[in-house]
This record gives sequence, structure tokens and C-alpha cells, in this order.
Amino acid sequence: MNDCIFCKIIAGDIPSYKVYEDDDFLAILDITQTTKGHTLLIPKKHTTNILDTDKETVEKAYGIVSDLAKKLVDKLDAQGVNIIQNNNIAAGQTVFHFHIHIIPRYEDKNNDSIDIKFHQTQQDFQQLLDLINK
Ligand code: 5GP
Ligand code: ZN
Repeated sequence: MNDCIFCKIIAGDIPSYKVYEDDDFLAILDITQTTKGHTLLIPKKHTTNILDTDKETVEKAYGIVSDLAKKLVDKLDAQGVNIIQNNNIAAGQTVFHFHIHIIPRYEDKNNDSIDIKFHQTQQDFQQLLDLINK
């Protein structure tokens, strides 16, 4: 895709800090460094997000994410890690080339200011049953 920033990074037209590379995937440091070591795993073949990506690619991607998450936590002395993957504008996606965020997390809040919270909404059992039936 000509206007895709990640395709340009994969092609080497835009510089990046490479964390990992093989024939099909590239992992780079996210430019925002939300926390120290915030990394993006990107398949080299352009797809928009998980919704139009074949299962084999998704499975391979998460296998690599599993390895990278462990290595990043170990090498950077992190105490945790978030794996985040946004799909479409409604879910916060801003770069429309499939990618997975690996975000090391630190107990020292001077180095870690992300706040990921799941706010509970009002639910009743009938609503949950309706969801299950769908
Ligand atoms: P999304 O919001 O689509 O899940 O995440 C896109 C991510 O790409 C953001 O965290 C953003 O910081 C990162 N990003 C955008 N442009 C560049 C770039 O040119 N280089 C790098 N390394 N990361 C980028
Ligand atoms: Zn692309």
C-alpha cells in the first residue's frame, strides 16, 4: 500500500528501530514509547487489521508476540506486559496495517503512566443471556 506508513517502514523508506525481523514479520520500537520498550509486531504483508487477516498469519504473529513479550520483560526488567491490538476506528486503531502492541509494564509509576481500566456497565442476567444467544 503506497500511503501506508508501516509498509514504508517495512520497505526501509522510513527509518525504524528493529527489535526482531524474519521473512514475514518485523518488530519495531513504537515511536511514542508509551512505556520503555513499547514494541509493535507488524506482518510484512499489508492487511488492515485482524478482521481481514488470515488465521495462519494471526497465529504466527501471536507466537512471535509470546516470545518477544517474555524477552522484553526479561531484558528490560519489567514487572508485567500488556498485549493490545486495535481494530478499526471504533477500537482506537490509527495506523491501518495490522499490528500488535507489546507494552512492558513497570511497578515504578514514574516510568509507567498508562491507565488501562475496564469500567463496568450496568448489566442484568437477561442482557447476558441475549448476548450468549447472539
Ligand atoms: P494503533 O493506534 O493503530 O493501534 O497504533 C499505531 C501505533 O503506531 C501508535 O502507537 C503510534 O505511536 C505508532 N506509530 C505511528 N507512526 C509511527 C512511525 O512512523 N514509527 C513508529 N515506530 N511507530 C509509529
Ligand atoms: Zn501497510
